Amino acid sequence: MIQTTMQHGDLLISGLVEYSRRVFPEAKVVTWTGEGARELSFAEVGDQGAQLANALTKLGVEAGDRVATFMWNNNEHQALYAGVPSMGAVLHTLNLRLSPEQAVFIINHADDKVIFVDASVAPMLSAYLAGTPNVQHVVVTNGPAEAVTAPDHITVHTYDDLIAGEPTTYDWPALDENTAAVMCYTSGTTGDPKGVVYSHRSIYLHSLLGTSTTGLGLSNRDSVLAIVPMFHVMSWGLPYAAMMAGATMVMPDRFLQPEPLLAMMAELRPTLAAAVPTIWQGVSALLDAKPQDITHLREVVVGGAAVPPSMIKKFDGYGVPIVHAWGMTETSPLGTIARPPAGVDDEEKAFAYRVTQGRFPAPVAARIIGDNGEQMPWDGVAHGELEVAGPWITGAYFQPEANVTDPSKFDDGWLRTGDVATITPDGYMTIVDRAKDMIKTGGEWISSVELENVIASNPAIVEATVIGVPDAKWDERPFVLAVVRSEDDADVEAHRKFLEERIPRWQVPERWSFVTEVPKTSVGKFDKKRVRQHYADGDYTVIGDPQG
Ligand code: ADP
Repeated sequence: MIQTTMQHGDLLISGLVEYSRRVFPEAKVVTWTGEGARELSFAEVGDQGAQLANALTKLGVEAGDRVATFMWNNNEHQALYAGVPSMGAVLHTLNLRLSPEQAVFIINHADDKVIFVDASVAPMLSAYLAGTPNVQHVVVTNGPAEAVTAPDHITVHTYDDLIAGEPTTYDWPALDENTAAVMCYTSGTTGDPKGVVYSHRSIYLHSLLGTSTTGLGLSNRDSVLAIVPMFHVMSWGLPYAAMMAGATMVMPDRFLQPEPLLAMMAELRPTLAAAVPTIWQGVSALLDAKPQDITHLREVVVGGAAVPPSMIKKFDGYGVPIVHAWGMTETSPLGTIARPPAGVDDEEKAFAYRVTQGRFPAPVAARIIGDNGEQMPWDGVAHGELEVAGPWITGAYFQPEANVTDPSKFDDGWLRTGDVATITPDGYMTIVDRAKDMIKTGGEWISSVELENVIASNPAIVEATVIGVPDAKWDERPFVLAVVRSEDDADVEAHRKFLEERIPRWQVPERWSFVTEVPKTSVGKFDKKRVRQHYADGDYTVIGDPQG
């Protein structure tokens, strides 16, 4: 054995901040205001990050203390991403769309000391503060201190007053790279929200993937429209990857409807954009009604839920390739990215790769585990629960006392994803379904995702989700909750016929209900938990119910 001659350098967010302000001072964060944009250069992000660190130190924030944000994607949020972890505190991004009970639970569970809040959502936060005794300071961004109503033990500041006059440098501590940097709770689609704590090292390594062509390929020539919220898995890592690459960030703030999104695209012409499928569904519907050239986008990254193949085709039609990616709060989140392999020039063949969730990057190890705990082959057919491990995969859930390694979620150092998947011999992973959403009918499995994809390929469907519901004869059968284009399209027989031409007859659902909107989670995914509840409560008018 010989010793390496390499130096050890801790991979720290302060390093990223200083690098970006020195090497890419002219790169920008651009926040949409509804009419135009307001900008902050990366040099100014570094300045404000240091000012925040100085101000927070004066407020008594110490290493490891939690500083929360209740904010949209905007300039100030980027400065907080820079300053808070760099000073050794932990940035806790709070989801704006949680229920009040969940929000209060999370603020207390994480023990947040300071909360930064956008004035536009300050009334919402104000309502929580009576239940959060450990919060000491609230800082209002983009509005007056009066936007917040707080109990006496909380001091309210404005962002501008807080940082005014503070030095634009800070003596960043030489942290261990494994120090906690950012924390985020899962959105609770399948259970109570659980906390995941990213380290400086995990974020730094994950950012490298953001700048790699195997990953998102971010470079200094890019301008990234980050629609995926900064409160949802760090906006998929874009804010830090952008600092590393010197890519401009385009921040939509609270303007997340298709109209303003297309307006900001027309004006700011981003080269990349990232969001969950439901956002692109809305953008696509508007594009069809009001065509607009969006070919300034070299790619659109879509994940967080399965992307229907019909959506990929649709965007190909606009001249913009969708890149499908898979991940979780627990995986930082980039777990797989779907880029066709070299040599596949044929469009049809390439398409077959693009609709998968993609390949794992080198640091992410993966395996699929069968019903009896056995490892399944990577043959593209055998399926089982997907388990992953690696330097940006969580190994536990956050607990104030000691982190918990719950055996239902962790298996001998591997994260159990709760997703059922197949992997091809050349490493392309396909999510068959969430384990909890698979439908077992007469002893056979139906993937709710595959069924949704086929249903969504019918132009008469705007959006549709599928859940398994009890059935006297088959134990379980699929139920479709759909939004259709027009009243005439609410025709179950026509939809069934469409499906019969495409999938085995036994998979074609009998039960349908047409609504004006499918319930969505806080991050815009179909909320199957709520759909199940509504179904059980008899809230839907079910057409074609064999028992009805
Ligand atoms: P939550 O679990 O609360 O919804 P996450 O945002 O962490 O929060 O969701 C992760 C889950 O989302 C994954 O386990 C998987 O079920 C689903 N998911 C993410 N990306 C994809 C994708 N590209 N295709 C299918 N499912 C996906």
